[in-house]
Amino acid sequence: MSENTNNIENRESVNFIQKIINEDITNGKYNKRVHTRFPPEPNGSLHIGHAKSICLNYGLAIKNNGKFNLRFDDTNPATEDESFVKSIVEDIRWLCPEWKDEPLYASDYFDKMYECAVELINKGLAYVDDLSSEQMREYRGTLTEPGIESPNRNRSKEESLDLFTRMKNGEFKNGEYVLRAKIDMSSPNINMRDPIIYRIMHVTHHNTGDKWCIYPMYDYAHPIEDAYEGITHSICTLEFEDHRPFYDWVLANLDDFKDEPTQQIEFAKLYLTKTMMGKRYLKQMVEQGLVDGWDDPRMPTISGIRRRGYTPEALYKFLDDVGVAKSQSVVDIAMLENAIREDLKEKAPRTMAVLDPIKVIITNYPEGQVEYLDAENNAENEAMGTRKIPFSREIYIERDDFMENPPKKYFRLFPGNEVRLRYAYFIKCNDFKKDENGNVVEIYCTYDPATKSGTGFTERKVKGTLHWVDANNCIDATVRLYDYMMEAEDYDKTNF
Ligand code: ATP
Ligand code: MG
Repeated sequence: MSENTNNIENRESVNFIQKIINEDITNGKYNKRVHTRFPPEPNGSLHIGHAKSICLNYGLAIKNNGKFNLRFDDTNPATEDESFVKSIVEDIRWLCPEWKDEPLYASDYFDKMYECAVELINKGLAYVDDLSSEQMREYRGTLTEPGIESPNRNRSKEESLDLFTRMKNGEFKNGEYVLRAKIDMSSPNINMRDPIIYRIMHVTHHNTGDKWCIYPMYDYAHPIEDAYEGITHSICTLEFEDHRPFYDWVLANLDDFKDEPTQQIEFAKLYLTKTMMGKRYLKQMVEQGLVDGWDDPRMPTISGIRRRGYTPEALYKFLDDVGVAKSQSVVDIAMLENAIREDLKEKAPRTMAVLDPIKVIITNYPEGQVEYLDAENNAENEAMGTRKIPFSREIYIERDDFMENPPKKYFRLFPGNEVRLRYAYFIKCNDFKKDENGNVVEIYCTYDPATKSGTGFTERKVKGTLHWVDANNCIDATVRLYDYMMEAEDYDKTNF
């Protein structure tokens, strides 16, 4: 690890979640344990919003001498893919290099989830239903109207148990039956109106193969996954706030978990200006070939920004600057760019490159001579030392560092003006040549040997300093310039 103090453990700010944890520790809750997790669904690559969640969860575990689990929420085999499991692990190892554990899989707990469902049926808290999906929707009611109870709601436990076993044994087709929690069809919270907890899906799972043809619903599976792993604080984003009553209901009604249920805490998602976030949209861009893949450097994915040259430390700094909040907002992408600039400022070696070259001939410099000048590797960090760079009679400068008829306050090169060449000499422009289209193709200058960089020359000052490369000793380079992903500042999330 670098000596940068910007690592996860040293982040200072105390967010509202840490305050909750402090209180829990004071009250001896969970025996003073702190155990967090990051639960991605392997249906796409991670983006920087996920990085926020990872750093938050991992950071809280480290700061509180706790534990952190990476757990794949792989309960929906219809949309998931093994290749994302690999890329997600790679991203997290990059982001949290000190995390050495192996990932866990929700699908490893399918037996436990099944047992819990049987327990709920036996307690009269779940029943098998055979309403069609249209009927189910109709019976659910609306935000303003209560739902209607299914005619199957009072099916006997024995009958539900028998049907559920047969669902599991593969006797029925997809959609023929579901298992529902028995809560309250008139609850103002629609998530509490007898939500489905198991559905039939004859699909091969990447981990469990064809062992199961019934799969648990996310809202039911998630609290069990958390509690089974001994997670203390289950941190998720705001859209799950309305789901919390059901999360609590599940754990409160299961004997194994009711005494020390995991608590769910919600925080605001990270959004960035000029950036599309959300796996669904990023997936569309990959699938439609609008970008080269999930790790296209223009993507806000962790793999994309890694390719683009971001460091984990820059992300920690950015996320720390952003903070953790309860209310939704959009962060200016300039903050992210500032974080990487700050981080690289003292650690990235600098070099000179000319992207749109125009040749300068230094007419009083001896033909065929090459001299090697000292250039700093990083002007802001002396410890990075110097290197030798070649200088000769012909050099390149940027086309827009020269103007034939400059406006006022233009301090770069123009006829009659003198500028400094960084790490080299002062040069003065005497003449230039144009081609038949009127484009400047060569500039003729003279240099003053007395102005050599590093010799303490102070006799006169010049206002402009130009970067340059030696025309005879330079190398070709591929330079990738990126613009923002979207022209608009923000996107209307309701349109997608
Ligand atoms: P998306 O909204 O991009 O489709 P998701 O929430 O479906 O992502 P999951 O793999 O289910 O992706 O998410 C794993 C975790 O990451 C969840 O706890 C989720 O709340 C969190 N997360 C997702 N997007 C963001 C974000 N923009 N900011 C912070 N956390 C996020
Ligand atoms: Mg999700």
